[in-house]
Amino acid sequence: MAETAKRKIKGYIVIDKERCKGCHICIDFCPNQRIEADESLNKKGYFPARFKENIEEGEKGCIGCAQCATVCPEVAIEVYRGK
Ligand code: SF4
Ligand code: SF4
Repeated sequence: MAETAKRKIKGYIVIDKERCKGCHICIDFCPNQRIEADESLNKKGYFPARFKENIEEGEKGCIGCAQCATVCPEVAIEVYRGK
């Protein structure tokens, strides 16, 4: 039980995929590789960025650093930080 309680979420992001222009700058800037390109197009015809929620073994989760949101030219990313 104590172990579970310790696994706090540091951060996560929400990407507005219809606002996204598919430039993928956010993918390059995320220090923990938490963003990838979606394989389906949005309504504008771009492959939007997608948050990688599932953390595989050896990967690091989102730390809520907001670098992705800062570089996004479309202001399509909202960052949330855990407690
Ligand atoms: S930086 Fe913004 S517009 Fe560019 S891919 Fe990421 S979310 Fe989309
Ligand atoms: S907030 Fe930081 S760690 Fe989280 S997805 Fe954005 S760039 Fe990556």
